[in-house]
Amino acid sequence: MPKITTEIQTFHLRHTFRISRGAADTVQTVLVRVEHDGITGLGEAAPIRRYGEDVETTARVLAQAEDLLPEDLFDLQTLDDNLGRRWNHRYQAARAALEMAVLDWVGKKLRTPLYRLWGLSADRTPKTSFTIGIDEPEVVLQKLKEAAPYPILKVKLGTKDDYKLFELIRKNTDKPIRVDANEGWNREEALEKINWLATQDVEFVEQPLPASDTDGMWWLKERVKLPLVADESVHTSADIPRMLGAFDGINIKLMKCGGLREALAMIYTARSCGLKVMLGCMVESSLGITAAAHLAPLADYADLDSHLLITDDPFVGMQLDTDGRILLPSEPGIGVRLRNQA
Ligand code: MG
Repeated sequence: MPKITTEIQTFHLRHTFRISRGAADTVQTVLVRVEHDGITGLGEAAPIRRYGEDVETTARVLAQAEDLLPEDLFDLQTLDDNLGRRWNHRYQAARAALEMAVLDWVGKKLRTPLYRLWGLSADRTPKTSFTIGIDEPEVVLQKLKEAAPYPILKVKLGTKDDYKLFELIRKNTDKPIRVDANEGWNREEALEKINWLATQDVEFVEQPLPASDTDGMWWLKERVKLPLVADESVHTSADIPRMLGAFDGINIKLMKCGGLREALAMIYTARSCGLKVMLGCMVESSLGITAAAHLAPLADYADLDSHLLITDDPFVGMQLDTDGRILLPSEPGIGVRLRNQA
């Protein structure tokens, strides 16, 4: 029978990471290993506090999930049924990590990288953006220097200093910028700020309003001059049809939707609704980031940069070329190796 082991990992951030909701210097994720037939599949959970998940609970439910694994690990449909019965819609990060580990196992068993199992072209990956969190002016300038190798920036806004912070960044770079307000604005503020950002060579704005203000999204969409991308407002494929007309695109994260196959369902649902697709992440190591990157050939935009924001990434996986474009590993499964063995 397949075996599960779990481990809580602590990573150090290059800079204190601030968004409109809070700040952190270190971050923890849960590493999960699924072992069977001499093959080990790896998965990573980065639980989202905003949704009431934490590493302790995630590690605990994963450690108790061994009996949920099907005897035939290729049978993910049975895994879904088992997870649905015990977890219902809870523990999305744990679900994502467990499915990730099983898919890594399957890919290794077949000696094939995941993107090839899905029939995707490695040369169609987009460039990833590099995130600049909310910070003091001198730290923002330092981060801009560190962002030199990356051609697209994602700037976190959502405080009273938005204009000052953005002007500073715009004065120091002419790169395309995507803005993420992380629910930090109210309607009038969002309208005013977005229409100002439209004059500042900004590509789009992510989640301007609190997810709870659903009516506000349509109100705003009718009035702004920039494309809007949903993050906190859209968790799974089931959320997409009910938000139609409020956004131009969606940000898909494995930890929010519960795994790679649900992410795939979101991509196809978004496409059928005429929406743009962005692949995003929580603060994850190269393991979670590389898993998501296997879907990058299907995405318009990628924001898969969190492994660049930590100083002690234990894994080596997805790389970037000199233009910041995602290079998928050619090893089977997710294709990551431990850094000290790389
Ligand atoms: Mg976001």
